[in-house]
Amino acid sequence: METCTYELSHSAITATHFYKAYEGDRVNLCFDCSSRFGYPEHLVEYPVKRAFRPQAGFLINVQIGDGEHSLAADVWPMGNADKPEEWLNVLGCPDSDALLADSLWEPYRTHYSVRDGFTFETTSVLVLPLAQVCK
Ligand SMILES: [Zn+2]
Repeated sequence: METCTYELSHSAITATHFYKAYEGDRVNLCFDCSSRFGYPEHLVEYPVKRAFRPQAGFLINVQIGDGEHSLAADVWPMGNADKPEEWLNVLGCPDSDALLADSLWEPYRTHYSVRDGFTFETTSVLVLPLAQVCK
């Protein structure tokens, strides 16, 4: 177990992060020290076991041209790779595979496709695990 070497009085506290000092020495920081560290971009987090890990998903939205959105097909965050395409096809999206590919290529930006007055919007985002929801 690495302990905090950033502050002398923290020598018994477990380190959560480190950075490489000028001559390659590793400087360990506990959670408290790393939270106050002025250059967080130089910190590397020690591996931690987490109960969950964010995963890729999609927000899918269908708009009618008048600004109202269809309540039946509102926001669908999904982790499963096949479900978003399946869902878009059911809704009548003409190019669901290309739409999803564009979304994956450029996350956090909404991509859209229009057909028969409906606008299909997809956005690739990070979501909490939804495995139980999608099964
Ligand atoms: Zn510390």
